[in-house]
Amino acid sequence: MSLPPVDRADLVATRRDLHRHPELGFEEKRTSTLAAERLKSLGYEVKTGVGKTGVVAVRSGGGRCVLLRADMDALPVEEANEVSYRSKHSGKMHACGHDGHVAIGLEVARRLAALPLGGTVKVAFQPAEEVSHGAQAMIADGVLEAPKVDAAFGIHLWNDLPVGTMGVMPGAIMASVDEFEITILGRGGHAAAPHQTVDPVLIAAHVVTGLQSIVSRRRNPLEEGVVSVTQVHAGHAFNVIPGRADLRGTVRTFGGKFWDDAPALIEETAVGIAGAFGARAEVHYRRLSTPLVNDERMAALMADVAAQVVGKDNVKTGVRTMGGEDMSYFLQKVPGCFAFVGSAPKTGKASPHHSATFDIDEDSLVIGAEVMSRVAVKYLSDHS
Ligand SMILES: [Zn+2]
Ligand SMILES: [Zn+2]
Repeated sequence: MSLPPVDRADLVATRRDLHRHPELGFEEKRTSTLAAERLKSLGYEVKTGVGKTGVVAVRSGGGRCVLLRADMDALPVEEANEVSYRSKHSGKMHACGHDGHVAIGLEVARRLAALPLGGTVKVAFQPAEEVSHGAQAMIADGVLEAPKVDAAFGIHLWNDLPVGTMGVMPGAIMASVDEFEITILGRGGHAAAPHQTVDPVLIAAHVVTGLQSIVSRRRNPLEEGVVSVTQVHAGHAFNVIPGRADLRGTVRTFGGKFWDDAPALIEETAVGIAGAFGARAEVHYRRLSTPLVNDERMAALMADVAAQVVGKDNVKTGVRTMGGEDMSYFLQKVPGCFAFVGSAPKTGKASPHHSATFDIDEDSLVIGAEVMSRVAVKYLSDHS
C-alpha cells in the first residue's frame, strides 16, 4: 500500500484561503464548513458541531482507531504582513499557524481516503485551542468514543525550528497553564497622608516580588516553573491613594509537585503579604490546561516516521516550551504524541508565534502532511 504524493499546490492554496479568513475560538464557522464539505466529498462520515464548531471525520475500517487532530482557531491580532494572502478580517489573524494545521489535516484525510488501512482513522478539527476550551468541548461531545480512539497524534508548525527539522520527544513537552487573579483591598486616601491609608499599590509591588520569590525559593530548582504577573491595575489620579489594586498572571509547569503546590503558594504569598501591611487579599486561581505529556512508545513511533521524512539528524529531541496546548486533554485520555514541525525559513529568523508578522515557510506544510499521513499508516499497521 502506498500513499499518493502530497499535493503541495492544493495544500498551499488551502492554507492561504484559510489565512485570508481567520476566525476566533468557537467562531470557526467558515473554516469548519469548508472542512466538512471537503471531508464529505472524500467519502468520510462527517459529524459537525462536535464541541460547538468542531468537525470529526471517520473512515471506519474496524480494528484500532487512530485520531489525528488539527486545531482551527485564529487570534485577535491585526496582521502586519503585506502578502497576497493577508487576513481580510481586521483585528483577526492566523498568527499561530493553525491555518496550516487545518490544511494539513485535510490533505492527510485526502491521502488516507483511498488506502486499505486495516483500521479506523478519525480526523478531528478542533475549535478554540487558543482560549483553552476546544479540546475539552470536543471530548465532552464524545470525540474519543464511537468508535473508541486508541491513540492520538498531532503537530504544531513551529517557528523556533527551521523548516526541514522536527522536534519529537517523550514526556512533558508543553506546560500546564494556570491563571490567577489577586485583588488587594486596602484603604484609599490622600497621597500626601499615606499614614491614614492602607496603600494597595505598594502592597501590590511587594506581592509581585513575593510571587517571583516562589519560583526562586519555594520550588525545587530541578522542576520547571514560571510565574508571570501580566496585569497590574490600580488608581486613577496622581494625588489619590486608591482603595484596591488588581493583579493577574499565569503559572506554567510540566506537572509535578510545583504544579500541585502552586495554588496554595500563590494564595499564601498574596494573603500573607497583604496581611503584613494591614490589607486583605482575595485570590482566584484557575487551571486552564494540563501539561502535554507524550507517551514513550508513541513518541518513538513518531520519531521513526519523522526520521523517514526529514532524516534522522534533523529530528531534534529536547524541543519543549512553557507555552500551553490543549492537545494535552486528548493525551491524558489516550496515548499519543504531539510533535513540532519546523516552519522558520532555512535562512534567517522567523517572526514569533502570536506576533503580527508571523508567517511560515510553506515547505513545512508538505512535511507536516507527510508525517501525519505516515504516522496514521504506521500506527494502524503496527497495531493490526
Ligand atoms: Zn498559539
Ligand atoms: Zn497554536
